[in-house]
Amino acid sequence: MLKVKIFTLYPDLFPGPLNSGLYKKAQENKIWQLEIIDINKFAMDKHATVDDTPFGGGSGMVMRADVLANAIDKNVNLNKKEKIIYLSPKGKKLEQSFAKDLSKLKNLNIICGHFEGVDQRILETRGIQEISIGDYILSGGETAAYVFLDSIIRLLPGVIGNPNSLKEETFENNLLEYPQYTKPQKWEKKSPPKVLLSGDHGKIKDWRLSQSRAITRRQRPDLWKKHLSKKKK
Ligand code: SAH
Repeated sequence: MLKVKIFTLYPDLFPGPLNSGLYKKAQENKIWQLEIIDINKFAMDKHATVDDTPFGGGSGMVMRADVLANAIDKNVNLNKKEKIIYLSPKGKKLEQSFAKDLSKLKNLNIICGHFEGVDQRILETRGIQEISIGDYILSGGETAAYVFLDSIIRLLPGVIGNPNSLKEETFENNLLEYPQYTKPQKWEKKSPPKVLLSGDHGKIKDWRLSQSRAITRRQRPDLWKKHLSKKKK
């Protein structure tokens, strides 16, 4: 079972979309478990201060290292080297391969920042890894946490009914997925490609691969390059 802890100043935002459909069922089936840690409860002064203005000046507020450390030290087993992720636009960009690695863990701790982020010292002293979900700025880490966890939970064994559907997805072999079609067969005078109705599985496979290759080449030259270089090895 994957035990997830989310550290946030806004506990009301959870479980949110993480408690719907497949994910709710997967929690009931004890495939994963979610615990929300309210950082506000770990403030140490009488005003319950969780953040303050940045040293050196500038706008915004920075989350205090001492408060966050208090929350982490009481909830994370640091001796067991549990993974702690801080969601941050400065982090390494989330990729499917990393989501796969994380889906093999037993414990995952996620810190959601706000305003100007967190005091740098907490990242250094608690061995926290920074991960970004893309090159854009969100107002807080909570929406990033939905995305981040979504990418991991669906990979846990037993969450998605047919595990084969994970094998043919976009990013497998650094290729984007081929186009998909369903009923009705004729719609607005358009039919799906004939080969898909042929029943010839060899031909269908070839067609899908050639489509994947063409789409990747056109839309994602960066992935296409990776695909070609991995194939040579
Ligand atoms: N001033 C900071 C941005 C802070 S954004 C800077 O320039 O780097 C506020 C919070 O939103 C961050 O602490 C982080 O937890 C979250 N966040 C914003 N964009 C994100 C992204 N692309 N990926 C992951 N988390 C993000």
